Amino acid sequence: MSTCTACTDRDAGDRYLCDRCTTRLGDRLAGLPDLYAELSIVPRVTGLAEVVTTAPTEARAPINLDVIDLCDLGGAVRVLEARRTDIQAARWPDRGAPAPADLMAHCRWLRMELDWIAAHYPAAAELAAEVRTLEGSALTIVGAPPPRAQRLGYCVAVTDDAGTVCGAALRRYPGEPVRCRWCGTQYRTEADLLLLRHYQPDEVA
Ligand SMILES: [Zn+2]
Ligand SMILES: [Zn+2]
Repeated sequence: MSTCTACTDRDAGDRYLCDRCTTRLGDRLAGLPDLYAELSIVPRVTGLAEVVTTAPTEARAPINLDVIDLCDLGGAVRVLEARRTDIQAARWPDRGAPAPADLMAHCRWLRMELDWIAAHYPAAAELAAEVRTLEGSALTIVGAPPPRAQRLGYCVAVTDDAGTVCGAALRRYPGEPVRCRWCGTQYRTEADLLLLRHYQPDEVA
């Protein structure tokens, strides 16, 4: 009888991971490929530096998470590949390292070996921590809503001698300067913005 090496809370019998931690690890491994696939289509809003500082320090072997971009598919593959190599060496010392594979294949392999890992792999808790970190890193990006363009009304710049008003819709992303993409007029100062607001046409509902 011993406590789970991952949650250090529940009884794991003669295994390294309790049933709940084993199930959670399996679920996370099942979800990782889709999560990282989504990463590639979501704009990056978190810098590498931020991600690196949030990586847990206890999960170091066999690969140093601190030096890897975990919000990158290649980084995730490297982490799981290193772990898979370690597990294969523990289980089948005579066999060589695993062939290079994609994230989906590594996750599938780890899930197939999950029962053996939970029972016999001494670093099962580190694997669980790594997978949790990978999931968390990806979620900081995928889970964050993409920045939305703000609508700021209509451009009030006069574009010719006849007094024609530009009238183009003004949009900007948060933090960007206000600039009409049609006539190029910039609204930079507070006076500019007040003028812009003052001359807005009445909204037709
Ligand atoms: Zn546990
Ligand atoms: Zn304009």
